[in-house]
Amino acid sequence: MHLDFSTDRLLAIVAHPDDAECLCAGTLARAKAEGAAIGILVLCQGEKGQSSPPVANLAAVRRREMQAAAGLLGAELFFGRVPDGDLADTPPQLRILLEVYRRFQPSLVLAHSADDYHADHRAAGALAEAASWFAASAGHKTRSPALPGQPALWWMDTMQMTRFEPGFYIDVTPYVELKRRMLACHRSQLRRGSQSDFSPLEEQMLRQCQARGAQSGVAAAEAFRIHLAWKRTRAW
Ligand SMILES: [Zn+2]
Repeated sequence: MHLDFSTDRLLAIVAHPDDAECLCAGTLARAKAEGAAIGILVLCQGEKGQSSPPVANLAAVRRREMQAAAGLLGAELFFGRVPDGDLADTPPQLRILLEVYRRFQPSLVLAHSADDYHADHRAAGALAEAASWFAASAGHKTRSPALPGQPALWWMDTMQMTRFEPGFYIDVTPYVELKRRMLACHRSQLRRGSQSDFSPLEEQMLRQCQARGAQSGVAAAEAFRIHLAWKRTRAW
């Protein structure tokens, strides 16, 4: 079985800068290599992810870190600029996603799953799911016109794989080094809670893609589940 992304447009909806690196950057890189267009929408500013001593203007610092990471991947990047902890499935925030969906026109959306550990991740997933329907609804007005049809949606793995039963795996073995280099762009986060070069975030990312790889017979993988909802499920 071979999954071919060459005609797709993949849009990852993540809560924070650095989430895509951990959960889906290998799949985005593989899709890009096959000819797909790829994009990332980062909904929150990440301004509460402070280290000690604190970083001045952390939201702006994290935007620059995310721009560097997305540049390595070759992804189009969008920012929701919602304060950390304020993300919720509300009409004003839904309109942020509708506008991005209508500008980027994804064929496939990657979204945080409902069992992920962080409230912003769960809210981002709920918003991504709602927008995957309403983006194709002409009655919901934004600056850009409605999409001709709904994108497919895949749920991403949870951080640390807690309560996530994979539906399938994407082999990302050739892209682990890229994931590592992208994560290294998030210097404000890698130094959190440590005065040494020790990097729990990188270890966590590597351990997870290696564990998913071990489950699926490759060196490194990312796990997903298809969203089984009408018009968001595709056959291939
Ligand atoms: Zn996060």
